[in-house]
Amino acid sequence: MKFTVAIDGPAAAGKGTISKAVAAHFGFAHLDTGLLYRAVGRLVLLGADPLEAARNLAANDLAHLGLRGEEVASAASKVAAMPEVRSALVKYQRDFAHADGGAVLDGRDIGTVICPDADVKLYITASPEIRAARRYAELIASGKQANLDAVLADIRARDHRDQNRSDAPLKPADDALLIDTSELSIDAAVAEAVTNIKRIIEGRH
Ligand code: C5P
Repeated sequence: MKFTVAIDGPAAAGKGTISKAVAAHFGFAHLDTGLLYRAVGRLVLLGADPLEAARNLAANDLAHLGLRGEEVASAASKVAAMPEVRSALVKYQRDFAHADGGAVLDGRDIGTVICPDADVKLYITASPEIRAARRYAELIASGKQANLDAVLADIRARDHRDQNRSDAPLKPADDALLIDTSELSIDAAVAEAVTNIKRIIEGRH
């Protein structure tokens, strides 16, 4: 069976957690497409050429522990604004989306560019202040030093870059279901996503 779930949204809105839970619930494979851009961003910070890095990305690069940091995230959003880098990463994502057994892909342009024909499209969002507070709490919980105002400024800068780039800007697909997690628990958001996906799967039988 081929079944594609496209999940988009800004940083720290909860889409990673929701995507993993949805994939586990339905037994679908999951691809966090942000990792592709983060892996390229990390290699560029180490001196690589962005396009060379995107073209030659290897499984090892995606598993690297250093991909989660804020510096890499910022480098990722810079390389993600380069159209040649984006197009070098399209095939990998589409192949993943069309593999047998069902797939969940989360990112910024899955429902709009990578999989415009996805069976289900979700757009997960939350206010910048709530997202910054969540990211701040995560950083503190993991023993890192952080400053809430700096985290908020960083989130706003990344949103601005992602929403205003000319190629594949971050925005909801016209037919995406919007889930705002500002005042919704993650469990409630997952339940809403699962209910909607179930309805579409059942409508097919
Ligand atoms: O989702 P994550 O925070 O890991 O993504 C890092 C950066 O990669 C984003 O800020 C965005 O610029 C870029 N990205 C993208 N398209 C995707 C996934 C991520 O442009 N599908």
